[in-house]
Amino acid sequence: MNSIENLKTGFKNFRNDAFECKSELWENFVENGQDPKIAVVACSDSRVDPAIMMNTDAGEIFVIRNVANLVPPYDENEGYHGTSAALEYAVQHLRVEHIIVLGHAYCGGINSLFGPRKVGVEGHFFIPPWMSIAEPAHRRVRATMPNASEAEQARACEKGAVMVSLENLMTFSCVRKKVYKSELRLHGWYVDIKAGTLSCYNADSNQFEIDGDT
Ligand SMILES: [Zn+2]
Repeated sequence: MNSIENLKTGFKNFRNDAFECKSELWENFVENGQDPKIAVVACSDSRVDPAIMMNTDAGEIFVIRNVANLVPPYDENEGYHGTSAALEYAVQHLRVEHIIVLGHAYCGGINSLFGPRKVGVEGHFFIPPWMSIAEPAHRRVRATMPNASEAEQARACEKGAVMVSLENLMTFSCVRKKVYKSELRLHGWYVDIKAGTLSCYNADSNQFEIDGDT
């Protein structure tokens, strides 16, 4: 069976299982809409689906996915601000109480910062300008650990990019106001897909610390 047919079969299984068995849940979704308390900014990488990794149910997390799980700085200029629009919806309309920026190891987007820059050539029109959001993290890593291997620098840059995204979240006035009023909390998380661990940023230690249960 090809992979497209797998998806159709997967939907049938979902309909017969999760949908039919939880008909009240889905009726409630239709009648009252969604009410997630948590938004997650995750990478588009097929290996790091937050709903699968966090074992969540439908309606539990509002997921925003893009290349390298980045949050751009607030920008009022015209454009197709997909990530910012989704964030605005999550914060202003859904009134989520938490935003998690979920980074991950072996991120292709972050890795592209370490290779030769191919700006404006076919296949590289949109990725370099998007990845420039993480450039401060890349510069920081190069400056603070110049003698580390490229792999070590990449792992540090993946975590650094989460921090840049958390900083950029605070450039959105709707986020800033709610954080100051303690109506919204921001979290930086990082999944190591080799070790199978989840690390959470601890502001007190200024470190990503492996969650005790993983
Ligand atoms: Zn990634």
